[in-house]
Amino acid sequence: MREKKACTHCGQDWVKEYKRADTGQVFHMCPECESVWLDKNCIDDATELYLSEFMGSGDSVRDWESITLIE
Ligand SMILES: [Zn+2]
Repeated sequence: MREKKACTHCGQDWVKEYKRADTGQVFHMCPECESVWLDKNCIDDATELYLSEFMGSGDSVRDWESITLIE
């Protein structure tokens, strides 16, 4: 059972589960502001890690191509 959680950073979208294609690592992200949380139990905390920092490619289009939304 998955609980829907609104983004604590922007409040504009739900935090969803994604997977990195390169490492297979599962993480949580708000698709609206690209805030990333590695641990879903820490989503309430003000985690300040953005997709660009997490992926580190320096190219946001490539970052989005390298992750998959987990349904
Ligand atoms: Zn957000």
